Amino acid sequence: MKILAIDIGGTSIKMCMADEKGNASAFIEFDSEAEKGGQYLVDNIIKKVIETYIEFDVIGISTASQVNSEEGSIIYANENFPGYTGMKIKAIFEAEFGVPVKVENDVNAAALGEKHFGAGKEINDFLCLTYGTGIGGAIVIDSTVYKGLNGGAGEFGHLILHPGGEKCNCGCVGCYEMYGSTTALVKKSLEIDNKYINGRMIFEGLEQGDVSLERVLNDWVLEVAYGLVSLTHIFNPPAIIIGGGIMEQDRLIAMVTSKAKQLMLKSFSNVEILKASLGNKAGLLGAASLHLPSKTL
Ligand SMILES: [Zn+2]
Repeated sequence: MKILAIDIGGTSIKMCMADEKGNASAFIEFDSEAEKGGQYLVDNIIKKVIETYIEFDVIGISTASQVNSEEGSIIYANENFPGYTGMKIKAIFEAEFGVPVKVENDVNAAALGEKHFGAGKEINDFLCLTYGTGIGGAIVIDSTVYKGLNGGAGEFGHLILHPGGEKCNCGCVGCYEMYGSTTALVKKSLEIDNKYINGRMIFEGLEQGDVSLERVLNDWVLEVAYGLVSLTHIFNPPAIIIGGGIMEQDRLIAMVTSKAKQLMLKSFSNVEILKASLGNKAGLLGAASLHLPSKTL
């Protein structure tokens, strides 16, 4: 089967051809220019597909925003995607290209990518968390994503771990992502030195032996662990897969695992904390996997 996979993010759009084994080819990436609105976004993708790809049997789409995957429509998109809410993505692409189209939310798609082709290949049940600007989450049960009533299950970033704490974009205070996201780590690191503008600069600083920065990192690891401990106590999952650019640092996975296991009930501590293995291709490969049968072992 020739699968055209599309991953629609806030800053860029990635596309490739993929097969059932997750082999990708003809990869392209371009700016999403989401601020120009949903209609522009979709028209631009269609134009690029026509310019780049000749033949495909199906299309799988992973997209930022809350998705009704049955209908393949956007339930809710935030202010970064004006006019995207309500768009019937599946119907638009099916009418344009005459092939079956499936659409899924980006975090769920990334979890399915890990299930089919990555760190979750040998596991039927796991949680997936992505650390970046915020914290995304997905729940995989019996090799499929548990969606909840409105398709929104797994919003782990908004677990309230610090009641009365920092105000979050969601309107609540003290959400996990205000303390455990990469954004939170950068914010604290910038208080030490204004050169610590991203994860890469922070890890360079740590290598150069910045002791205050090491303290900030340890505090942040503890915050990340709090979320993982709470989720482990709720789900008692065999595995948790963690990803996002910052988690590429092997040292971090070890620190987070050790701290989380120290804090959780002993009888839960056989949970495996695994590094996501598909990196920034997880969404794209997840999009490709939408047309494959679920892979329960
Ligand atoms: Zn929140």
